[in-house]
Amino acid sequence: MSKFEKYFTKEFAHLKEKDIQIEPLLKSEMLLISGDFYGIQKFIFERLNTKNASKVIRAKSAFIQLFTVALAQYICQKLNIDEKYILTTNAGKFEILSPNMESNVVEKVQELVNDYFIKKFYGLSGVSICYTPCKKEDFLEKTKYKQLREKIANIVEEKKFKKLNLKNQNAILSYNNNIANQTLCKICNIRKIEHDEKCDICSMFVKLGKDLVSNKEYVWSKKDLLIDLENFDTKIMLNAKIKSYILKGEHDDPIDFEHLAKNSCKDLDTGVQALGILKADVDGMGKFIKNSDITDSFENFDLFSKTLDNFFSIYIPSKMKENFSDTYTVFAGGDDLFLVGSWDVILELARFIHDEFSKFVVSKELTISFGIAIANPSTPISYLAEHTEHLLEASKAIDDKKDAISLFRETVKWKTYLSTFNTLNLVFKDIKTEDTKTAFLYRLLDLCDMSKLVKQDPINNMWKSKLVYSFVRNMDKKYTNILHPLNEMIEKYPQETKMFLSEFIYKRRD
Ligand SMILES: [Zn+2]
Repeated sequence: MSKFEKYFTKEFAHLKEKDIQIEPLLKSEMLLISGDFYGIQKFIFERLNTKNASKVIRAKSAFIQLFTVALAQYICQKLNIDEKYILTTNAGKFEILSPNMESNVVEKVQELVNDYFIKKFYGLSGVSICYTPCKKEDFLEKTKYKQLREKIANIVEEKKFKKLNLKNQNAILSYNNNIANQTLCKICNIRKIEHDEKCDICSMFVKLGKDLVSNKEYVWSKKDLLIDLENFDTKIMLNAKIKSYILKGEHDDPIDFEHLAKNSCKDLDTGVQALGILKADVDGMGKFIKNSDITDSFENFDLFSKTLDNFFSIYIPSKMKENFSDTYTVFAGGDDLFLVGSWDVILELARFIHDEFSKFVVSKELTISFGIAIANPSTPISYLAEHTEHLLEASKAIDDKKDAISLFRETVKWKTYLSTFNTLNLVFKDIKTEDTKTAFLYRLLDLCDMSKLVKQDPINNMWKSKLVYSFVRNMDKKYTNILHPLNEMIEKYPQETKMFLSEFIYKRRD
């Protein structure tokens, strides 16, 4: 069995990257340098108004990746080392194994980066750069590599904490003094307008957003992205990972959220027009890595983390492009996803991703949980980001094993959600639209609520007779076959039934 198949199934072998030959890179004394873009949520969403959000959100998310790549290359230049020492640049993180031990160079770069973020982004986010000396043996001996991974993780964690304190001290903003409201950029509401009602940074993001949906192949870090690290400028490829997937709008720019909402229920004559916002991440990653042999060697770790990243950053966006086109990637990489789309497409996509992920990983311990919100496109995206984060947290809190989904105000396990969904879908799909009685459907939602409360008060058992009564009053008797599965599902899985019914109703509402 190949190393790959220890963690992932064969069908996904195309997601494997070329192995890094670590041994030729090893010296007796080295510096492991680790970079971590922090404040990502704030960086992407803060102060963004809804109207222009879709023009810049993906670009800001891609910028995080691009900045990380540029910075890793810049550090190599400053240390006078070849870029082959960059081990990874994924999901806002990088790692460099430097044969040059001059840590003061790294510290100087950190100051420069802090300066840049304070000047351009008011220090709400940034990249923290950590390092630790290490030895050849750390990469060659099993227990030592594990220790090295723990060590660097702790240093990153510690620095994150310090960074927060530092940020509070620097709360006084001395830049762009005397800017009145009318001269504030219409997109970020924080920097001064330079031209066309936008600040330079937001103009850059709008341009990058267009580049991402175009055939453009690369950008320059200084010239195109305004990444100001002395005179350093580097050409960065806009590869599949960076481009990800965004539906193209009418003006060759990223589709706006209003349009995505309008595209809901495209193949139906009816249906609610709304956005679906999906957040998902892998359950208990830290624990899984700790209890596995992943950190036993650099090879295992590199293979595992890069393939996992590719699943989210390349595979899922490619499938969105193929089969779920009314969608927009905010973020996809590492072990998590943040996607926006027509609400009905987002629900289909969530079921697809859950299914694919369980095929992808070998271990049954690795699962994925979701939080999904359905909203009006005028809702501020920062609010939606926070809200779906809470929904995802609710999913994670369901039990130790997680593997849950929060949707339509319910939080349930994927297993029961899918079995209920499939059972009911099979019988409901034959109901003709003209025969669907909304009164009956809404009644069913009430019955689910009653069934949930049976344990508290047995009087709620009345839902069973009410079900028959409501059916007889509202529905054609040719559909009697739905009664038995409804009875069974409302009894066993009232929350899951409610989720199925809500989707069914939303698709038929005018
Ligand atoms: Zn701006």
